[in-house]
Amino acid sequence: MCGIFGYVGIKQNATQAVFDGLKRLDYRGYDSWGIGIIQGKEILVDKHVGIVDTASLKLPASSIAIGHTRWATNGAVTDANAHPHYASDKSFIVAHNGIAENFAERKTQLLKKGYKFISETDTEVIVHQVEEERKHTKTLAEAVRIAFKKFTGRNTIIVLSRDGQIIAARNGSPLVLGVADKLAEIYLSSDTLSFAPHVSHIIVLDNGQMISVLNKQINVSDIQTGEKVSYSLEKNTITDSGVDKSGYDHFMIKEIYEEPFVIDRIIEQPDKSYLALAKAIRQAAHVYCIGSGTAGAAAAQIAYYLRIFGKVPAVGLIGAEARDYFDLIGKDDLLIAPSQSGETADVLEVMETVKKNGTKIASFVNMPGSMMTRLSDYKFMAQAGPEICVMSTKIFVSQLAWGYLVAKAVEGNLNDGKEKLKGLSKNTDAFLHNKQKIAHIKSLAKTLARKPHIFLLGKGQNLQIIKEGMVKMIEGSYVHAHAMPAGDLKHFAITLMEPGMPVVFVLSNDFVKTDVLNALHEVNARGSQIVVVAPQPDESFDDYIEVPDLGEVSAVMNIVPLQLLAYYMAKSLGHNVDKPRNIAKSVTVK
Ligand code: GLU
Repeated sequence: MCGIFGYVGIKQNATQAVFDGLKRLDYRGYDSWGIGIIQGKEILVDKHVGIVDTASLKLPASSIAIGHTRWATNGAVTDANAHPHYASDKSFIVAHNGIAENFAERKTQLLKKGYKFISETDTEVIVHQVEEERKHTKTLAEAVRIAFKKFTGRNTIIVLSRDGQIIAARNGSPLVLGVADKLAEIYLSSDTLSFAPHVSHIIVLDNGQMISVLNKQINVSDIQTGEKVSYSLEKNTITDSGVDKSGYDHFMIKEIYEEPFVIDRIIEQPDKSYLALAKAIRQAAHVYCIGSGTAGAAAAQIAYYLRIFGKVPAVGLIGAEARDYFDLIGKDDLLIAPSQSGETADVLEVMETVKKNGTKIASFVNMPGSMMTRLSDYKFMAQAGPEICVMSTKIFVSQLAWGYLVAKAVEGNLNDGKEKLKGLSKNTDAFLHNKQKIAHIKSLAKTLARKPHIFLLGKGQNLQIIKEGMVKMIEGSYVHAHAMPAGDLKHFAITLMEPGMPVVFVLSNDFVKTDVLNALHEVNARGSQIVVVAPQPDESFDDYIEVPDLGEVSAVMNIVPLQLLAYYMAKSLGHNVDKPRNIAKSVTVK
């Protein structure tokens, strides 16, 4: 989580450039933010609690600045804990992304040496460690390197020194450098999109590398050895960062309306990539699909498609719960990871571990240049355009469509899969433009948003769909939603079925339909309020959202009304739809 941004150049006011950059990065963390600049011989810092555009900037113009949007892990959300943090003599400042896991033991040492701490953050421990190392090194960059190595965990830092140097070190979330006009302007950021329209070339740093920028000189070096690393400037191909709402009220709804487009991107990808992965799947001893949060539901659905169409006993795993598989995933196995950002920490840890065992990896990522893509043997890009809303919608659809097509390739029916996806794209578009349906979902959302508990039940192809529906409702509305297998209800949660309890069922015309209807009737008998997403009505439904029967791809269609419900629920409650409280989009800490 968190966004890091830096700018040095003569063409723009650096203070404003960093402020604008942070606004573009605030999907990564938005509980507080701060900017540090150089004015004369002094470093000035301005820090605020809240999202980047709520407070007004109180810093003068400058030609060099760094900034940070925080997603607090260590220490409360306060101005004092916001980054950047000053060195004791104010000769440099540091902003940090990640968790310095061994900060406590380092802090004890530094306290003994007399260092004073103003904040509760682990970041300030890094700051003082740099000061400590600086006593024995020739340069600040060397002190940063030695100090940085002493911290465990996934960390990325950026440092601005009073003499106009920016130093950044990466061992966690991404760090990209962009240049314009033959180094007249240099940008550093957690993602390329935040500065893309302004630069001609980029350098993507790897984990274990650091960079220093001074007087238009760029140096990349290896953090372990301190040796220089040669780098090449890649041409920047992104000219439009695509981060405006295009007339929609929120990014979430804009992104839901882009779903037909993202399905088309899946169909257009070359057959040979699908066929190569299909071959690897068939040859693998075991196939594990892994993800976290929404991508965890997508991973489980991809495993489902591989079981149903590919006849491969694939298993779905949640990133944070994969540890017990570490010794089981070996060189003959394949790991498949769908991820929006390609930098989810708990999934990356699994990837790095199993890669050492020789396991092959396939990834499906939306952000270019991600760590997951770099670690993968089979690399797929969603090409869905930026997803700005913290709640994932179009990328989930894209992950499902991709997983379905991969499974169809394993089945030997790639073309049939593509035809089905074309139908899905058309039907999704028609559904989204059906005014009556949207109005109905809106009014239903208003009632559901005011209920303290909502159950969601489904089975088979719709099991992960109701789970993802639950995720969206919890994220956006902060209501307690609970998704469970329809068939499991009678084993325990039926005790909670009482008159008025809202229960959302998702059902398709498939081989488990009767089982789901049985559960529905059991719930109906207890007087609960039954809301159903299905291709046909039934007299036992209290509320009914009709979806087209799309056979094998019905589940992907079915998530659309649930996403819309969640969107209108969050909106009707007046919540910050694109930035729900406490969560961030790229979870780069464990
Ligand atoms: N661990 C640091 C803090 O709590 C950095 C968090 C972040 O990545 O935003 O301040």
